[in-house]
Parts: sequence; structure tokens; C-alpha cells
Amino acid sequence: MSTLERERMRTTTGVRIPERAHWPAGAPCPALSAEGRCTGHAVRPTICRLWGAGANAAMRCPHGCTPEGGLLPDAQLIDLILTSLEIGGHRAFADVGDQIRALAADPALQPLLTRLISGDATAAPAIVAAIRGRRHDEPDPAAPQER
Ligand code: SF4
Repeated sequence: MSTLERERMRTTTGVRIPERAHWPAGAPCPALSAEGRCTGHAVRPTICRLWGAGANAAMRCPHGCTPEGGLLPDAQLIDLILTSLEIGGHRAFADVGDQIRALAADPALQPLLTRLISGDATAAPAIVAAIRGRRHDEPDPAAPQER
């Protein structure tokens, strides 16, 4: 969830949604009413709008509904989420959006991203290591060119 989305939820509903890492385990979203409805449905974040639209098991509708046109693959889900973070700002993803997109296009790394989408934060260090490894493999633009 981007900073802008979080702020829009706060100004619309009065509810401050913390960073996911700061939620108590198993706690529901604080914007959820006692009746089980989103109190900020009209301004809900992109990640919430994508529930039920992704092919990833963690994003599928529990009732088996699918959107017209089919479910979105992980790479598209990630692209939409990253775009929302880029537009709305998020300090953790400010510099790595393009690298994560590249990872999402690599079938060998998709299982890691699938784990992350599924809420498995233990996948994050491996993803960061993969990003660092790719940066290490990239040619140094300041290095002299071989002829
Ligand atoms: S849709 Fe659900 S998870 Fe998203 S902000 Fe509303 S209550 Fe929270």
C-alpha cells in the first residue's frame, strides 16, 4: 500500500492503516467494520482492488469467481502493485521497482514473488539478494569499453 493510498484511507475513514509489518499476527484490517465491510471501499488501495483478480492462489476469490477476461498472472499483478507504489510513494520500493519487474518476468524467480504476494515475508531477503546479484552482473556504465 502506498503512502498516498494510506493517507487517502485515513482522511476518508479516520482509520490509520499501519505498515503490514506492524500489524499483529492474524489481525484484520483496521478499516474493516464490525459488519465485515470496508469503511473506505470507494477509496480502497490497489492491492485491495486486485483481490479476486489474480491467478495467484493467495489472490483468488474464495468463492471461485473469476473476472471477465480471465485472471491476471503474477507478473501483471506485481506490475500493477508496483505502479501504485510508484504513483503513491513507498520508501521501501522507491529504488527497486524496475528490478522487481525484471524478477517477475523471470520464471525461475517467480516462486519467490509468489511467496511474497502470499504474505510470506521470509521471501523478501532472497528477493533482495536476487536484485543485488543482478546489479552485480550488470556492466558498470563507468567502466572503460572493450574494443
Ligand atoms: S478492502 Fe479490506 S483490506 Fe482493503 S482497506 Fe478495505 S477493509 Fe482493509
